Amino acid sequence: MSLAERDQNVIWHPYTQMKTAALPIPIVRGEEALLFAENGKSYIDAVASWWVNLHGHAHPYIAQKVAEQLRTLEHVIFAGFTHPAAVTFAERLLQILPQGQSRIFYSDNGSTAVEVALKMAIQYWQNKGIPKRKIIAFRDSYHGDTFGAMAVSARSAFTAPFWSYLFEVCFIDVPIPGQEEETVKQLEAYAHGGDIAAFIYEPLVLGTAGMVMYSPSKLDQLLSICQQHDILTIADEVMTGFGRTGRTFASDYLQRKPDMLTLSKGLTGGTMALGATSCNEKIYEAFLSDDKHKTLFHGHSYTGNPVACAAGLASMDLLLQDETQQHIARISQRHAAFADQFRDKPKVLEARQQGTILAVEFEADGTSYFNKLGDTLYSFALEQGVILRPLGNIIYVIPPYCITDEQLDQVYLTIAGMQELITGQRYFDPPKQTTLHD
Ligand SMILES: *Cc1c(COP(=O)(O)O)cnc(C)c1O
Repeated sequence: MSLAERDQNVIWHPYTQMKTAALPIPIVRGEEALLFAENGKSYIDAVASWWVNLHGHAHPYIAQKVAEQLRTLEHVIFAGFTHPAAVTFAERLLQILPQGQSRIFYSDNGSTAVEVALKMAIQYWQNKGIPKRKIIAFRDSYHGDTFGAMAVSARSAFTAPFWSYLFEVCFIDVPIPGQEEETVKQLEAYAHGGDIAAFIYEPLVLGTAGMVMYSPSKLDQLLSICQQHDILTIADEVMTGFGRTGRTFASDYLQRKPDMLTLSKGLTGGTMALGATSCNEKIYEAFLSDDKHKTLFHGHSYTGNPVACAAGLASMDLLLQDETQQHIARISQRHAAFADQFRDKPKVLEARQQGTILAVEFEADGTSYFNKLGDTLYSFALEQGVILRPLGNIIYVIPPYCITDEQLDQVYLTIAGMQELITGQRYFDPPKQTTLHD
């Protein structure tokens, strides 16, 4: 029996309708931006394996650091005990996180990092004896798949079966151009209500919504309203963190800094499952008390896992190297140039870019996750040896930073090919790369 058939007998895959899904592609090896299938075919990982991979697959430096940690200490209970990897990683995270963050709370994925931030925000007000209960979020946001994270996410097809179990949230529209003043009004109306505990947001780019982008100045205005009304702010940087938007964190584009940040995905360079929630001293201090009821009663078996922290430290070493920063700048420039050339082509609604994230929105009947165009484009890209996972009619590229110019050209060509598929005519050939850097 083939691996794919054995898989079909025992595995239930995420976000997959198992009845109609094609057989999964068995991947046996990865190297840099490439994944190698059992049958020898290689794929450019243009979606960084669900937005997690920063430095390429099976990176030798991360592998070495992880192996060393595995031989030294694989895990230890994180209540009552600590270890060098967790402490050093927290120290180094706080050095690069936006100003004001002073504590790291570890968990093991993005959804739990969000749960922790929400629980910190809610209990913060309870510990202070102030009745602020409500949470504000963007209407189209995505913050994860656990119940608290679902509650602050869009009321979409993803969450529909659970709507009646989700706590009530005050939704405001994303301040995309044209919508900005309305969003400010919506936020002000809620803020004047007085009982808002926190505002959670994906800074600058809403990932799952379809790489929807909005301006730092508008977000600064929203954060300023929150700060005036004593509303805690939570930047969900699970997707945007670690260079994705061009700077280390999307919050680095802003004047106003959040009270809390949530991190995962690129936190370990895509090597190990790890989540982290950071907060400032104001939040932390509200939990210090002789009254044990004011404790943050939250933790996971694998909290602060040493191997995951070692992977995080190794990934951070790589991220801070000049070479990686140059890659981020190079990808950002090339994405921007492609978006500029592509956006006015037929059947292209929009082409947008923020740092290493590129999104192209094609015209389609019904712009939903379920429209068939997405499936067609997904299969087309796979045939070209490129992994692009459309969100409905929206194609996005969020590559490992080590992706080469030739591989990026291949990705852009594939997107141009998609347009040809849709319009029946070739409108665009991305200019071949002549090396920009060095
Ligand atoms: C992916 C994502 C999450 C959830 O992270 P998981 O590790 O998949 O649970 C939360 N917030 C944002 C912004 C994300 O993109």
